[in-house]
Amino acid sequence: MSLPGAGTGPPVPPGPVDFLLFGIGQLVTCDPELGEGPLGVVEGGAVAAADGRVVYAGPERQMPDLDMADDVDAFGAGGQAVVPGFVDAHTHLVFAGDRADEFAARLRGVGYEEALAAGGGINRTVRDTRAASDNELRRAALGRLRLAARYGTTTLEAKSGYGLTVEDERRSLEALAWAAERSVVEVVPTFLGAHLIPEEFAGDRDGYLDLLEHEMLPACAPLAEFVDAFCDRGALTVDESRRVLEAGARHGLGTKLHANELGSTGGAALAAELGCVSADHLLFCDEREARALAAAGTVAVLLPGTSFLLRTGRAAPVQVLRDAGVTLALGTDCNPGTCYCESMQLMIALACVHGGLTPEEALLAATDGAARAVGRGGRVGRLAPGAACDLVLLAGRSYLDLAYHLGVNLAQVVVKGGRVGGVEGAGVPVGRGAPAGGGP
Ligand SMILES: [Zn+2]
Repeated sequence: MSLPGAGTGPPVPPGPVDFLLFGIGQLVTCDPELGEGPLGVVEGGAVAAADGRVVYAGPERQMPDLDMADDVDAFGAGGQAVVPGFVDAHTHLVFAGDRADEFAARLRGVGYEEALAAGGGINRTVRDTRAASDNELRRAALGRLRLAARYGTTTLEAKSGYGLTVEDERRSLEALAWAAERSVVEVVPTFLGAHLIPEEFAGDRDGYLDLLEHEMLPACAPLAEFVDAFCDRGALTVDESRRVLEAGARHGLGTKLHANELGSTGGAALAAELGCVSADHLLFCDEREARALAAAGTVAVLLPGTSFLLRTGRAAPVQVLRDAGVTLALGTDCNPGTCYCESMQLMIALACVHGGLTPEEALLAATDGAARAVGRGGRVGRLAPGAACDLVLLAGRSYLDLAYHLGVNLAQVVVKGGRVGGVEGAGVPVGRGAPAGGGP
């Protein structure tokens, strides 16, 4: 079957169409070949899918005659806007306890690094996570995953990193796998045993890295796709981070790096040197580092919720990244310390009002860019033939509402893999019934 705009994406599935959404006012494909501008916007659109993947995304009036399954799920969008399902490129989803009191202290002026030095911060969540039962960890991860889905996230990267023992790191990744099986969200697991040198190894950093390399990685790598390290002041040095990522790569893991959040600590250059799939945070990044990231094809994952909530007034230098041609992605950084939030909608808004992105850049970063940051470019994060049929029907007529209509859940219907209603609390489909031509 040859369709307009079939492009160079994954092959289109051969089966009959079993999902059809018509009557879309504004269809954002995030594929510039399929519509107007960088977001590939189509006015008056339709999306058809078979076996979970998009067969057609484009103008409804140009939709070819498609082979329809007898039990096709056909819905009218009532003229509302449709965007690809959000991809959250960076979360720390598996943890126990909370740090609401530290948040309140920060509002009174106690700094993040100060709290860390006083035994709070990551170390505190490590203690809580180690003390939690398997069931508590699993349920906590699943609850956050379901909340993310309700806000339109259909793919989500999630890290371990609050266990920091062989047993607890593995347990965290197992809890994540357990939760992923029970959620419609596609989870991308990352091993972050290098989140911090745990307290008990404070005087023996190399001892911890030996443990990580020779015991943790063999136990955890089979449960992860990526390895990550927190390369920053108060966490790991550049050399320590390099050792961890290289060891992870030897276990077949892709590499990511928490880089340059608290200072110009060399993390961005390291991410480029190692060809990491992403460098995350980047609150400090100069022209040379940005050019290196672009040349390496490393995606910049911006976490505007974290920089906003840390109240330093600093955001990632978007113009520097833009000028260098670095691909931008967004994530929530969902974690108990610096940004407890599962909503990519809020991240899009913050990326615009606090981070200096345009609404178009922010939405692209929350979909196609984030997909690239988790090794799924072209497969999710866009509505193009061959890509996963993951989409969000917005309670609004324009994608601009994501930045403009603040603090409400605009995800009226969330579709994952061409299936509606698999998302708890995602809302009720509108206008179920007649296919194209008879839409509301
Ligand atoms: Zn993080």
